[in-house]
Amino acid sequence: MNLVRPKEPVIGTLVSTALCMKGKSASFVRHIDIDVSGTPLAGNFRAGQAFGVVPPGRDPSGKLHAVRLYSIASPSWGEDGEGNVLSTTVKRVIDERSADDPEVHDLFLGVCSNWLCDIPTGAEVAVTGPSGKRFLLPESTSEHNYVFVATGTGIAPFRGMVKELLEHPDGPCDRPIHLVMGVPYGTDLLYHDDFIALAEAHDNFHYHTAISRPESGPRRYVDQAVVENDAITALLADSGTLVYMCGIKGMETGIYRHFVDAGLIDDYLEWPNDIERVRDNVTERKVRAGARCMVEVY
Ligand SMILES: Cc1cc2nc3c(=O)[nH]c(=O)nc-3n(C[C@H](O)[C@H](O)[C@H](O)COP(=O)(O)OP(=O)(O)OC[C@H]3O[C@@H](n4cnc5c(N)ncnc54)[C@H](O)[C@@H]3O)c2cc1C
Repeated sequence: MNLVRPKEPVIGTLVSTALCMKGKSASFVRHIDIDVSGTPLAGNFRAGQAFGVVPPGRDPSGKLHAVRLYSIASPSWGEDGEGNVLSTTVKRVIDERSADDPEVHDLFLGVCSNWLCDIPTGAEVAVTGPSGKRFLLPESTSEHNYVFVATGTGIAPFRGMVKELLEHPDGPCDRPIHLVMGVPYGTDLLYHDDFIALAEAHDNFHYHTAISRPESGPRRYVDQAVVENDAITALLADSGTLVYMCGIKGMETGIYRHFVDAGLIDDYLEWPNDIERVRDNVTERKVRAGARCMVEVY
């Protein structure tokens, strides 16, 4: 953890950058590989952790830009098998500038995400980290089943974890693994062909998609995809199952409600005694993910 602090970042090199959406989309998401060899990060990160990027330049107040966190999308042995190249999944933040003056509405481009998506291979990237000690695979991977639930770039850690489980040098994990990926449009699906290929190669890996604004047919959200899938619902009741969620803040609410409905509060949630155990109370700030539930939302 935090081998490289934000105030003293080390230099990595961008070695690869490519769009990773399924099709032409209104959002732009890139898979990028950064070579960190020779830095303290090399060989010292795990799937599920995040690393930091300090974009060049200064913010409007004249201070050096603050560090931004990005989930590591590689297995713990990196993209190169040696832990020297880590990757992430960056979405360009594009917005209209918000201000008190209604006449101010020009284009706002998120500083770090757009810089990372703009730079060419060979560019230097100031990196920090790694960070995160809970959103990790267990030590004994073969003793668990996995339900991974992602929205958008929340898929990043699961790309690393699924590869770690299925492509491990000691052999693939043969326990059930379900990955549920939620996006607004079908074209926004990330690493789609890679997950299809993994599902074809491994009977125990199941890849599900939930499209919230489909061209036709009903809207589906990730929590619905979990609730409506009998295999996932049955797996949740198994004491060896671990649930991981990553993506948009708030995505956890629907799944927490499912835990309540399915009588699984004690399995996946930390529920204080002074809060009534009903589904409407999952938004109480004191209701948290429990030991078998890992959540990373941003
Ligand atoms: C643990 C963790 C993991 C993460 N993993 C990933 C990941 O894998 N992939 C990923 O893409 N992101 C990830 N993020 C988010 C990432 O850290 C950045 O927050 C994101 O890339 C935006 O940074 P930025 O510098 O581009 O935007 P910023 O310039 O920091 O802007 C951030 C937000 O503020 C708003 N904003 C700020 N100023 C204005 C203004 N004047 N007018 C209008 N709007 C404004 C923007 O709309 C934008 O939404 C993660 C965050 C965390 C905490």
